[in-house]
Amino acid sequence: MSSVLISEVGPRDGLQNCKAIMPTAEKKRWIAALAEAGVTEIEIGSFVSPKLLPQMADTGEILDFAVTIPGLTVAVLVPNLKGAERAIAGGAHKITLPMSVSETHSLRNIRRTHDQVIEEATAITELIGQTPEGKRPHFEGSLSTAFGCTLEGPVPDAVILRCAERLMAAGCDEVGLSDTTGYGDPASVKRLIRAVRAVVGAENLTGVHLHNTRGLGLANALAAYEEGITTFDGSLGGLGGCPTAPGASGNVVTEDMVFMFEAMGISTGIDLRKLMATREIVTTALPEEELYGFTPRAGLPLGYKGEPVRAAAAH
Ligand code: ZN
Repeated sequence: MSSVLISEVGPRDGLQNCKAIMPTAEKKRWIAALAEAGVTEIEIGSFVSPKLLPQMADTGEILDFAVTIPGLTVAVLVPNLKGAERAIAGGAHKITLPMSVSETHSLRNIRRTHDQVIEEATAITELIGQTPEGKRPHFEGSLSTAFGCTLEGPVPDAVILRCAERLMAAGCDEVGLSDTTGYGDPASVKRLIRAVRAVVGAENLTGVHLHNTRGLGLANALAAYEEGITTFDGSLGGLGGCPTAPGASGNVVTEDMVFMFEAMGISTGIDLRKLMATREIVTTALPEEELYGFTPRAGLPLGYKGEPVRAAAAH
């Protein structure tokens, strides 16, 4: 049976886009419940300035907690060397450095040019080299706004490929493709995966981070799967939304993505009922936040992995 890795990014990408701040104790409960549901990789937060993102101010404490959960790969987003130092000191298993292929967005988002991002990547690689073996995190460079930028529009392939090459040359273990703006479509997803893999090698691009801004999240995930991608970021309830597109969810809804793969016979290792039950923790902690997802609303189909088919028919 084939399988995929679903990486839950709700505690980072979801929560950082919420107006309200989820209390630390509730974040811990949620992360523990996700792991209990069979989620084996969670991006638990980011080490950014608490002035810019107060939602992420407790990432240090969340990291300390998350690394105690057996079998969980704990991922952290880091915008620079400083963030990487904290992530590595806290024992993160995976760190992701975002590099906006749109330099305008990069300057606006993390106030760095491409050259400066590459300098950070190089410094992070050096730091990892100085870290004792066994405590070295997997280092991913994430190509954000890869399918288009709200400031620049489409970014030329040549620029994207150059960024991918430079991140690998700077010492990243792999690059990822991020549809930060939800501009991607199944054809562009396939095309860009092929183009980037031709430059960095197929083994160095295994994950995608897709948004559902225009409703194409699942279609794009399936397109990526067909190209051989094995790691898919998702956010519980599509948490986070999109500030510029009311009613549009943020990341691909994890529950719907798990349903799609499982229904196709592709294992995610996740217990969908338990996963959906964790929505309760989020809605209780953040009552103002809208959660998305078709599967949680419709329920599981009769006969889905032990759903009781006969129960209804007996009466
Ligand atoms: Zn995102």
